[in-house]
Amino acid sequence: MDYYETLGLNKGATQDEVKKAYRKMALKYHPDKNSGDSEAEAKFKEVSEAYEVLSDPKKREMYDRYGKESVFAGAGGGAAGPGGFGSMDDALRTFMDAFGGGGGGGGSIFETLFGGGGGGFAGGGNYVQQGANKKATIRISFTEAANGVEKELAVTRLMNCSTCSGRGAATSDGIRTCSQCNGAGQVFQTRGFFSMSSPCPQCHGAGQTITDPCKECKGQGRVREKQHVKVQIPAGVDTGMRLKMSGYGDEGEGGGPPGDLYVFIEVDSHPIFEREGDDLLLDLPMGFSEAALGSKKEIPTLSGPCRLSIPEGTQPGKVFRVRGKGFPNVHGRGRGDLLVRVAIETPTHLTEKQKEMLRAFGETEGVDNLPRKKGFMDKIKSFFSDFPS
Ligand SMILES: [Zn+2]
Ligand SMILES: [Zn+2]
Repeated sequence: MDYYETLGLNKGATQDEVKKAYRKMALKYHPDKNSGDSEAEAKFKEVSEAYEVLSDPKKREMYDRYGKESVFAGAGGGAAGPGGFGSMDDALRTFMDAFGGGGGGGGSIFETLFGGGGGGFAGGGNYVQQGANKKATIRISFTEAANGVEKELAVTRLMNCSTCSGRGAATSDGIRTCSQCNGAGQVFQTRGFFSMSSPCPQCHGAGQTITDPCKECKGQGRVREKQHVKVQIPAGVDTGMRLKMSGYGDEGEGGGPPGDLYVFIEVDSHPIFEREGDDLLLDLPMGFSEAALGSKKEIPTLSGPCRLSIPEGTQPGKVFRVRGKGFPNVHGRGRGDLLVRVAIETPTHLTEKQKEMLRAFGETEGVDNLPRKKGFMDKIKSFFSDFPS
């Protein structure tokens, strides 16, 4: 599946076009409108995944350069599997983001789009809502990315209030069924042919009002708490990848499940290695005499120095591939290669003696010594012979 095709776009599509295309398709295939239709469900996941990647410039660049697998690095508790979205939850979350619902979880989006109430209602009007997702960024060094690392992250989460066990009321008598909606959480209005429901203005959809609020959480049922979360970062991660820590978002409301924590990875650049997917690129400077005569060079790799033979007559830009000395693959599929690119330097600050030697050498130099120059001269000859004399 190609993300651009999925959204009916071409590669040059602007962010605006990506958003428009996604909104149109997501509304068409949204599970609330296609209840029980597994084909629409699959389609909804597909377009959401495509949007998730193409709407994020970093991920989009990764996708354009290295394909789908590079974007989703599966790790952590119950992560999205390699190469895509795991669940409908992921797709719905993307949907919320695209429609500006944001961290609130269920509510606002459905009010504006489908005219429903916020959250969900379990049985007797109890308000149940999944906690909001959280985002965090971790910066790691190049070496940490190569070896994998455990990092501690401080996150501020909404946790169930321990004083009132999340009820929000100081005593069990402090909760009353809302008088305006009789505990339904929604009120109905008839406009012309339509019967519209909206969240109850008195209880804001909760179905109940708190007459004796808990002092600790001021009736919210949840309190902000700073927590230290250990994050296992697998070897081979790259900038733009994210890890999903299931259940580390805000605690849910009314016993709803907690949200998730998404950890975005940023990897520092390295002074000598450049990364190209799982391969590493190293520019190796060398004098022209070494390149002309051939030499043995000691080159740095992630696992210590290694010997490389430079054959006679090596040209600038020549790339030598050292197998298996690249970056580990984040999905555990071996290692990339180290690509050593020859950068030949023209000697500077020559002494008089060196200049003399070079002049003497230059006099002996013929076109056979310079393969590119020879080819160039041949091309020029045929170029001029094309002109009528
Ligand atoms: Zn109410
Ligand atoms: Zn409380």
